[in-house]
Amino acid sequence: MTSLSQSEPLGAAVRILLYGVVVLSPLASVAFIRPLTDHGFVYTVGKNLALVGFTILALQFVLSARIPWIERPFGLNVLFQFHKAMAIFAALLLVAHPVLLVIGGRDEALLFGPQVIWHIWLGRIALLILLVHVLLASFRFVIKLNYETWRFIHNLGAALILPLGFFHSWNSGGDLRLSWLKSLWAVLLCAAAACYLRHRVLRPLLLRRHPYQVTEVRSEADGVWTISLVPPEGVNRFEYLPGQFHFLTFQRAPNLPVEEHPWTISSSPTVPGVLCSTIKESGDFTVSIGKTKPGDTALVDGPFGRFSYVLHPHERELVFIAGGIGITPLMSMLRHICDTRAERSVTLLYANTGEDDIVFRDELDEMERAGAAQLKVVYVLSKPSDAWQGERGRLDEEKINRCAGPELARRSFYLCGPPALIRQTIQTLRKAGVPAARIHFERFDL
Ligand SMILES: Cc1cc2nc3c(=O)[nH]c(=O)nc-3n(C[C@H](O)[C@H](O)[C@H](O)COP(=O)(O)OP(=O)(O)OC[C@H]3O[C@@H](n4cnc5c(N)ncnc54)[C@H](O)[C@@H]3O)c2cc1C
Repeated sequence: MTSLSQSEPLGAAVRILLYGVVVLSPLASVAFIRPLTDHGFVYTVGKNLALVGFTILALQFVLSARIPWIERPFGLNVLFQFHKAMAIFAALLLVAHPVLLVIGGRDEALLFGPQVIWHIWLGRIALLILLVHVLLASFRFVIKLNYETWRFIHNLGAALILPLGFFHSWNSGGDLRLSWLKSLWAVLLCAAAACYLRHRVLRPLLLRRHPYQVTEVRSEADGVWTISLVPPEGVNRFEYLPGQFHFLTFQRAPNLPVEEHPWTISSSPTVPGVLCSTIKESGDFTVSIGKTKPGDTALVDGPFGRFSYVLHPHERELVFIAGGIGITPLMSMLRHICDTRAERSVTLLYANTGEDDIVFRDELDEMERAGAAQLKVVYVLSKPSDAWQGERGRLDEEKINRCAGPELARRSFYLCGPPALIRQTIQTLRKAGVPAARIHFERFDL
């Protein structure tokens, strides 16, 4: 596990370099094989933008296929953020492509004229689908598009855009007469298709061969459940780092939904043969989580993510800041620190609404009493009962400075909770002089 962290900067650099080389390879091919062109500068740029844009789109399938070798040095959250950013970038390049061709001399009909050849129409349709995609992804929360509908549109659209773009460029692109570029295009299409099939077809089939079994469904707090899973006989539970997450697809009573969702592994890897996730009822799927029964099964895909103190072995004085169910990865790390007697001191600032919302309270109090990890727990409640004697109100700058200090700048921070809490806490910590490299956070959003 430690070697994983040590090889990362180099590993990440290699993968980024590889990505850059592939994205720029069509340009290099065109420049190298056909250095002279009779087109003007603007036209050439317009044409080249399409070559790069198509290559980026093909690589989107590779990025999103959850391939461990690609995910490992970055974490899935970062990879998916990059995937989103590159979709916007590719869309901008591909919108600019026909505009620059027209500015560079092509007939204006290329943009909106109805009388154009069929492969121009393919390009237009691909571009339209891509734009709709990017707009929906950017404004999904504003227009309140539910996740399942968005995902359905995304999967369908993704399966259409690339073949449409491929046949458009294959037939209209002058450079695609070069046999080398033709081969590159075919390789890109096949690689994207292989990743798509691996992710959508092969991966579920393989996971279905070894479903885990639910052994316990425990109520932790109001609307929060811990589900314990064990692998089938003869199969070893995969290794993971405390704080990592997995995707679970529960197979339960026929009337209950079957969907794949990401959840933190809240247990510690030191507990052999078991995986636990602690899940809060928060939406149309999780509302049914308490109906899961021992004996039900689940497909388990993981582990993913890099939110783990073991990846930063030099950090000794840790401050964990959790909001609500964001406690789960921190709990996995705390359990691991206690079980392995790791030399760390931990202050946990844990924000909730009321006393009944605190998850793992007994276990945390017990860890603190036992002196494990020199743990100090500070509960902060925004709407406590009158009898509450602890911290009240929001977990704000004043409380962070008072409860996690002194000398914040010396400590390392692990944050998980609602986006606003993470944002404001990062601002507070940066203001207090904590280096960005020692602020780690996990968003419950991919
Ligand atoms: C890395 C990670 C770790 C997480 N760990 C935990 C945890 O330990 N405990 C916990 O209670 N929650 C955790 N979550 C959040 C959990 O995944 C969502 O609360 C859950 O998927 C919501 O499902 P829903 O249909 O009930 O809610 P909805 O209201 O339908 O969805 C709420 C939001 O959750 C996300 N979401 C919904 N469905 C999916 C899906 N199938 N795949 C990916 N994202 C989806 C979307 O952003 C959506 O907008 C984690 C999320 C991530 C990304």
